[in-house]
This record gives sequence, C-alpha cells and structure tokens, in this order.
Amino acid sequence: MGSHLDSVPDGGAFDGPLGVVSAFCAVDLLRSRAFEPSRPVAVACFGDEEGARFGVACAGSRLLTGALPAERGLALTDGDGVPMATAMRSAGLDPSGVGRDDEVLRMIGAFIELHVEQGRGLVDLDRPIAVGSSILAHGRWRLELAGEANHAGTTRLEDRRDPMIDLAAAVTAARSAARARGCVATVGKVAVIPNGVNAIPSAVTAWLDARGDAARAVAVDVGHAAGTAPVEESYTPDTRFDPTLVTRLARLLGDAPVLGTGAGHDAGILAAAGVPAAMLFVRNPTGVSHSPAEHAGRDDCLAGVDALAAVIADLAG
Ligand SMILES: [Zn+2]
Repeated sequence: MGSHLDSVPDGGAFDGPLGVVSAFCAVDLLRSRAFEPSRPVAVACFGDEEGARFGVACAGSRLLTGALPAERGLALTDGDGVPMATAMRSAGLDPSGVGRDDEVLRMIGAFIELHVEQGRGLVDLDRPIAVGSSILAHGRWRLELAGEANHAGTTRLEDRRDPMIDLAAAVTAARSAARARGCVATVGKVAVIPNGVNAIPSAVTAWLDARGDAARAVAVDVGHAAGTAPVEESYTPDTRFDPTLVTRLARLLGDAPVLGTGAGHDAGILAAAGVPAAMLFVRNPTGVSHSPAEHAGRDDCLAGVDALAAVIADLAG
C-alpha cells in the first residue's frame, strides 16, 4: 500500500501524502490489534508522481515497471536543465539502480493506493469511502498555430493572420467536443510569440489535455476547429483495476460505492503492468484538488485508515 509525497506547484496537502500517512496509520492500527500478517506488508512511496519537476507523470512507478525506459527517464531535465540522473546523485541515490525491476514486481501480490477523492462523487453519494474502478483514457496534444507578426494598430483586420483567433476556436471546440463525446478537455497552457500586448502574434502553441474513451476524437475535433493537426505528446488508454479485487474490497467495506477517476495514479501504472491493484478514495467535501483548498475531514480520514486496515487484514490475514 502507499501513494506519493510530491505535489504540483501551489498544490494541496492531501493528494499523495494522505495515502502514505494512512498506510502507516493502518499498520499501527493492525499492530494494536495484534494482527499477524501471513505475508509481508509494505508501505511504498513513489517519486515524482505529479511529474511537476521532470514533466512525466508517475515517473517513479513508470520507471519501476519499465513504462518509462530508464535511459529516457534519467535524461529528462527539470526547469533548470538538471537531468534526473544528476538530481538523483545529488540526493544520494544511485541512478544505475533505476529501471524495470521484475523481482520487485513479482513480490507485489496486490497494491492498494488510498487517495483523497479529486471530485464530488462521494459528496453526492453522502458516503466517506469509495473503491476505485478505473482511470479514464488520457492524452496530451500540442497545437502549433502559425500566423504573421504585425502591428496591432496599423494592420487592417482583413489583412491579419492572427493565430490567437485559431486558439480561441480551439478552446471553445475543446469544450463543445468534450461535452458531445462524454469526455473532459482542457487548454491550460499556452505559449505566445512574441507575447506583446500591441503585437499580432506570429505563433501560438497550446496544449490540450483530454480524458475519456473518446479523447482522441476530441483532439481531432479541436484540430479541425483550429485548422491544424494536433501533435500527440502522450496517450494512455483507460486502465481498469483488477475486477475481482474491486468487488472484494467493495463488499468488504459495506458495499462501498465504486467510482472511476479522471486522474492518473501510480496504482494505475502498476495495474497496467499486470500487478493486481485497487484504490480507496476518501471524501473531499469541496471536490477541489491540486489547490490549497483540497481537503478531507478528520472523521473521513480516520474512516480511510479503518478501511485500509480492513483491506490489509483481508488480503494479508
Ligand atoms: Zn495523487
């Protein structure tokens, strides 16, 4: 069991740490009950889950499973140009030990990741704990929109080639295509050249994040609206957690609700690598995540620890 301790810039206190802290609390709780496991129980903490430093989400678990090859991972650089290998060395770690580890993967009978819910599913259901069923398909696309730099005051509207207009079309198309196709889509990052208030841009680069079964179709729709072919930077198909494990956990936890999520997790990376994995979600009263407003109430956090302890007692009893 476990999760991660890293966060996003200006993130909250619960996404990640709640899973690691709850795992240790569950071990304490089981020890206080004199529980004797029939198999080893371990707490895992994966590195750079959010990808905030090196740009690849779930970098630690992807390196462990080989989904991110070691050479590629170690060569990734942070915003200051520091390669991951150098960062590891300066943190006292040995980069030569990075890479798919079959021995470790074979040792994991099941991986359970407890996580604060990143939505309002449990609030609407009025329940404290849910079992995760799946992670939505997720892709990132880059849109390169070309135009012609010119003066904002002297260039007639009909003479302009303004890529910002194409960006506007892309942003509204992302919303309407996502709604029509049952997905979510976001344009959250834009680079404008020359980025001057009185200059018609010569180029705009925008990034589209789309999630759901039809995420690729959404990207195609957005490309049509903006008049460019989107460049796929990454695509992860939907991940289903082990159905037997999900059913067993939901039953064990008093017919807990079973919810999917649009957020990626280390448990999903392990599941995709063939490790039986499942997740527990703890109610988040606002549903807000990746923000300092992210929260879970004390009673719900304790219910999470109880649930995790019950799951470990069942799987390792
Ligand atoms: Zn997380």
